[in-house]
Amino acid sequence: MKAVVFSEHGSPNVLRYTEVPEPRIGTHEVLVRVRACAVNHRDLLVRQGTTGSSVSFPHILGSDIAGEVAKVGEEVSNVRPGDRVLLAPGISCGHCEECTAGRDNFCREYTVFGSRLPGGYAEYVTAPAANALPMPANLTFEQAAGIPFVFMTAWHMLITRAGLRPAEQVLVIGAASGVGSAAIQIAKVAGARVIATAGSESKFAKAKELGADEVLLYAGGELAKDVRRLTNNRGVDVVFEHVGQATWDQSILSLATGGRLVTCGATTGREGKINITYLFFNHLSLIGSFMGSKSELYSVLELVERGLLKPVIDCVMPLERAADAHARLEHRQQFGKIILQVP
Ligand SMILES: [Zn+2]
Repeated sequence: MKAVVFSEHGSPNVLRYTEVPEPRIGTHEVLVRVRACAVNHRDLLVRQGTTGSSVSFPHILGSDIAGEVAKVGEEVSNVRPGDRVLLAPGISCGHCEECTAGRDNFCREYTVFGSRLPGGYAEYVTAPAANALPMPANLTFEQAAGIPFVFMTAWHMLITRAGLRPAEQVLVIGAASGVGSAAIQIAKVAGARVIATAGSESKFAKAKELGADEVLLYAGGELAKDVRRLTNNRGVDVVFEHVGQATWDQSILSLATGGRLVTCGATTGREGKINITYLFFNHLSLIGSFMGSKSELYSVLELVERGLLKPVIDCVMPLERAADAHARLEHRQQFGKIILQVP
């Protein structure tokens, strides 16, 4: 089969479009003919070798996969060949205390497609049958691939971890990112007022289309001042962070008394300081979050079916142009998801 692989860590140039053996399935697995796979920021980190976990070369990236079931193992009964499916990105042991409590993303063995296991930058991928979920009927493969990773991450952050309530105010950092564009929509569905940031004014209109009530230009300046101006000097209840070092200080200063900062990423750097007195005096909470559970993905898909959440697609590129897709994401030229189409 055709696939994009890499055999050493480095720049987008290490990605090669080539022929590799087709994978085999186990009795509880399915073989999926990939039709579309989204590019995530995590793909860049795995390619660069900065995630902290090692991969075996040649490696195939890709966590967000939509396609058709090609074959099923002997014990598989939830899907049949020909079914249109998307894959829940996370794979866990399925039997530990966390997994059985429905918190599979807390499992010690948790991993995602394209991280330790081969992913969807290929014509075929194998998956545990439990990861194959029916695709919402109103979506194309490209749209379906743009959903799981970012929407379940944003859902877990806002709804589960930060406990967002109707009438609260949220600051969403990075409206143009996949996870930011998902967060704006989820926060609006939850009844919150959304202030979003964007790196250039050309992205303001799209952020508003997604439902942002206000959009602020963020260029490393005085974000917290602008947030306080828009909130009657109160600050926001929740800050949705994934950028890290570049926005950390301003994000904390944007919080109202009792505010919660929830973060899932550090794309601009891993160091963040905090004034401990400011933290306790203002009753602040700092909350870490990673991925989301399968059950949360089901909630997301329900709202996608009802038309309340929509995948945001920046562009669709053929699989063989994966290196160009990575460069586009690395230079933050996109708004929403970059999708690789597998012909
Ligand atoms: Zn487990």
